[in-house]
Amino acid sequence: MDERTLIRTFFDRRPATGHGHPEVLLGIGDDAAILRPEPGYDLVAAIDTLVEGTHFLRDMPASALGHRCLAVNLSDLAAMAAEPRWAVLALSMPEAEEDWLRGFADGLFALADRFDVALVGGDTVRGPLAATVTAFGRLRPGLGVRRSGAQPGDGIWVTGHPGDAVAGRLLLGDSGRAGQANDAASDAAIRRLVERFLYPEPRVREGRQLASLATSMLDVSDGLHDDLGKLMEASGTGAELDVACLPLSAALRAVYPTDAIHHALTGGDDYELCFTVPGANEVRLRAGADAWPVPVTRIGTVVAGKGVRWSQAGQPHAVGRTWQHF
Ligand code: ADP
Ligand code: MG
Repeated sequence: MDERTLIRTFFDRRPATGHGHPEVLLGIGDDAAILRPEPGYDLVAAIDTLVEGTHFLRDMPASALGHRCLAVNLSDLAAMAAEPRWAVLALSMPEAEEDWLRGFADGLFALADRFDVALVGGDTVRGPLAATVTAFGRLRPGLGVRRSGAQPGDGIWVTGHPGDAVAGRLLLGDSGRAGQANDAASDAAIRRLVERFLYPEPRVREGRQLASLATSMLDVSDGLHDDLGKLMEASGTGAELDVACLPLSAALRAVYPTDAIHHALTGGDDYELCFTVPGANEVRLRAGADAWPVPVTRIGTVVAGKGVRWSQAGQPHAVGRTWQHF
């Protein structure tokens, strides 16, 4: 299959009816796309590269990789409280395998359609398997949430269930363990954790709602403890947290009873939002979050000073080594 046919077959998908993108004046097919952002918005850009062997293993399903390369970027936009609009994709692969490409494009477009993101261009090259997406979004001026706004006294919150994704990744790499489930309940728990690793959900709607509530925010990609450190450093503040408040999922506790806290603190790939909210906004946060598909949990408090300190039953809790990308 030649390159033009490949692009036309797999990537030149006009948005489905009802997904009007009047701002895309020219999409895939020319030398570059032409976009005309609506007046009154700031443009927000994010880019992430996924490389085989570093960010994913060869046996990751193609649809999961297609999903992931867009999801990690939408997650970055979500963490700014931005609204995703467009994306471009650079795909490098050793050979053009049609089934693989179909799976990749299906995973990518399933997510793009859900968030009304138009793929407006890209590049396709022969090389080691890697995918880079640049995502563009928009923001009303002044409504972006940066890492630097946390204030002493603010609550520290997290969406979803940190630790599930790294557990899923470990289970995938441990086929013995994954195949060992001897009852339906643990089988379901294992499948749930693996799903959370393979198909991370960018918290786009949640992030946008936090625009008027949160003082600082980021998305958790490297592990809750490390990422909280970045949030606090950017804000010039410290954090005090209690591991008893961690929203450990039932699946994580069932499959990793002794390591659940460790995974929640140090496991990467969660793509949940971690953010700070002043006490005065807590009632509005709780009311708004009632309609979210994920729980939102207060896990600690911003304090003056530096550092991220966890405690357990009144005693300091030492955080183990953070999971490193293989
Ligand atoms: P050029 O050589 O001018 O860069 P290409 O032949 O590489 O053009 O690409 C032709 C068109 O297809 C361009 O509009 C480009 O943005 C788009 N394109 C190429 N690869 C992809 C891809 N993987 N996904 C989406 N669009 C792509
Ligand atoms: Mg050109």
